[in-house]
Amino acid sequence: MFMDKKVDFSNIVVIIGVMGFVALLIAEVLLIKTPFAPIPYSDFHKLLVARQVDNLEISPTRVTGTVRTAAGVALLPASDAAVIAKNGAPYRFTTVRVNGDRIGEELATSDIRYAGVADEGWAGSLFGWLLPVLGFILLWNFLSKRAGGLQNYAGIGKSRPTLYVQQASSVTFDDIAGIDEAKAELKQIVEFLCNPDRYRRLGGKIPKGVLIVGAPGTGKTLLAKAVAGEAKVPFLSISGSAFVEMFVGVGAARVRDLFEQATQKAPCIVFIDELDALGKVRGTGTVSNDEREQTLNQLLVEMDGFEPNSGVIILAATNRPEILDPALLRPGRFDRHIAIDRPDLTGRRQILQVHVKHVKLATDVDLTELASRTPGFAGADLANVVNEATLHAAELNKAAVEMADFDEAIDRAMAGMERKSRVMNEQEKITIAYHEAGHALVAQSRAHCDPVKKVSIIPRGVAALGYTQQVPTEDRYVLRESELLDRLDACLGGRVAEEIVFNDISTGAANDLDQASALARHMIMRCGMSPQLGLATFRDDAARAGYLRFAAPQERYSESTARTIDEEVRRLLDEAHARVERTLHEKRALLDRIASLLLEREVLDHATLQQLIDETETDASSVTAKSAPPAAMRLA
Ligand code: ADP
Ligand code: ZN
Repeated sequence: MFMDKKVDFSNIVVIIGVMGFVALLIAEVLLIKTPFAPIPYSDFHKLLVARQVDNLEISPTRVTGTVRTAAGVALLPASDAAVIAKNGAPYRFTTVRVNGDRIGEELATSDIRYAGVADEGWAGSLFGWLLPVLGFILLWNFLSKRAGGLQNYAGIGKSRPTLYVQQASSVTFDDIAGIDEAKAELKQIVEFLCNPDRYRRLGGKIPKGVLIVGAPGTGKTLLAKAVAGEAKVPFLSISGSAFVEMFVGVGAARVRDLFEQATQKAPCIVFIDELDALGKVRGTGTVSNDEREQTLNQLLVEMDGFEPNSGVIILAATNRPEILDPALLRPGRFDRHIAIDRPDLTGRRQILQVHVKHVKLATDVDLTELASRTPGFAGADLANVVNEATLHAAELNKAAVEMADFDEAIDRAMAGMERKSRVMNEQEKITIAYHEAGHALVAQSRAHCDPVKKVSIIPRGVAALGYTQQVPTEDRYVLRESELLDRLDACLGGRVAEEIVFNDISTGAANDLDQASALARHMIMRCGMSPQLGLATFRDDAARAGYLRFAAPQERYSESTARTIDEEVRRLLDEAHARVERTLHEKRALLDRIASLLLEREVLDHATLQQLIDETETDASSVTAKSAPPAAMRLA
C-alpha cells in the first residue's frame, strides 16, 4: 500500500554486468584474429626439440607460440597437425605445461624468441573471477526475491525502499467520520505541531509515541495521515513488517536510518503500521528471533534517545495490542493509546456520507437505511461498498447510483466478510447482547466499579478494549479488596447472564474467565487476600508472564500450598458467581430491557444505561433496594 514506485537498481546492476561480460567475450574473439590451436604438451616438446617453435609466451601454467614452418607442423601426429593447420600460418598454438618441465633450461641454449607472462591475460582472469561473482549476484537476487525480503542489496540498511515519504498529506479530519473520540485526542497533537512554542513555554511534554489500536480498515492509517495533513508536516510511513529482514542487523539499521530521516525532517509524523510485526513480546516465536529482537531494541533505544519536544511524533498502528512487548508501552514510548472501534449506526452513516460526497446518488438512496444494514462493517468496508455500488451502476450505464446497486454491493461484501466470520448471525447477536448487558448491569450495580461508559455489541476483533475491565497492571495495584471483588463480579456478569437467560453457555466468555481467574490468583498469591494462606505471597504466573518473565520459574511453595491456592481461587470465583447470580436474578427485567435496547441500537452510552436503570428501578417497587456492600456479601 505504501510502496514507492522505485526503479529496482539491483536488476540494472545485474543487467549491466551481464552485458559487459558478453561484450568482453565478443571482443576477445574478434580482436584475436587467429585463434590458438590447443595441442598436447608432447607435441609442443617434439616441436621444441626440433627447434620448430618461435615467439613463445610462457606463463606459469601455459605456453603459447607459433610453429615456424609447415614442415614443423608435419612432424606432428596427423590429428594434431590438422588442428594447427586448420587456422593456417602463422600456426598459433597453445599448450598446458606439465609439472617439472624444464622449458627455461632447454630454451636457454636455443635461438628461439621467448618471453615470460605473469598471468593468463585479462580475458582469462576475467573468467577467473567475474563469472563466479556474477553467479553469486544472480543467486542472491533470486533468493532474496523469493524470500520477499531484501529488494535492494545496494542499499542494505536504508529504509528507503519501503519508506513512504509524503511532503504534506492531503487528508484532513473532515475525511474521517464516526470516530470523533480518536479525532479529538489527536487534535491535541496537531495543536502541538502547529504551535510548539505554546507548549514548550509552559514546559509541557507532548507524547513521543501514540499507539492507535483498532481492527483492520477502521481508519488507523487515515487518522495518522490526517494528523500530518492538518498540521501540514511531512508524513513518513513504514510498515513494521518491512523492518524485519532476512539478515540480522538490517532491521536495526533501518530503524536508525528512519529516525535520522525523521529528525532531519522535523517537525514530522512517523507512522509505523503493523507495529506488532516487530514489537511482539521478546523471547517468543522461533524464526529470526534475533533479528526481530535487535530491531525492537533499536526502536526502544531510538525512542528513548530523541527529545520529547523535538517535533517528531511517532504514531503506530496495531490490531493486536495484547501481543506487544510491554517495554514498548512504557512511559516515554508508546504511552498514549487511542482505541478505534468499528463504527456504530451513526458512525456508519457518517462514513457513508463522506464517501458518497463525490458520487451521484439517485433519490431513492437512504444512507441511514444502508447504515442499519451494515452492522460490523469497518470504514474500509463501507468505502468499498460505495465504490462497488458505483461500479455496478456504471456497468449498467445508469445516470445515478441507485439503492439497488448498494444492495448488490452490500450482499457481495457480506459474502466476503462472512467468510472472514466478522458478521454475526441473529442468534449470536442476541447472545452477545445479553452477555454485554450482564457485564454492564453488574458493573453498574456494584458500589466500587468504574461506571460503565459504553456498552457495545459491535464486533471489534480486538480483545480487551472499550469498557471491558482488565487485570490491573503494575501501577494500578493499589486497589482495595472490595474493589477487586466488584471487578471480579463485573467480569463474570456476561457469563452468568448467559447461564440465566439461555440456560446454556457459550465460548464468548473465555476471555472474561481468563481475566477473572488471573485476578483471583493475583489477589490470593500476591496481595495476601486469602484468610487461609495469610500474608505470605507466592510467585504468580501472570507476573512471570509479564515484566518478571526473565526470572527463572521456580516453585517456592509446597504441593499442599499449591492445592490450597487452587482451592482459594476456586472459592473466590464461586462466591463471585453466586453474588452475580443473585444480582441478575433480582434484576432480570432490567437485564432484558438493556439487552433488547442493545440489539436495537448496538451501542448504549452511560446516560442511556443509567436512565434505563433508573426507570426500571422506580417502576418495580418490589425490587429489593440496592445490593448489600460487597465486603458484607463475602461473609455470606
Ligand atoms: P487501517 O489502517 O485501520 O487498516 P485505513 O486507514 O487504511 O485502515 O482505512 C482504509 C480506508 O478505509 C481509508 O482509506 C478510507 O477510505 C476508509 N475509511 C476507514 N475508516 C474510515 C473513517 N472513519 N471515515 C472515512 N473513511 C474511512
Ligand atoms: Zn464478556
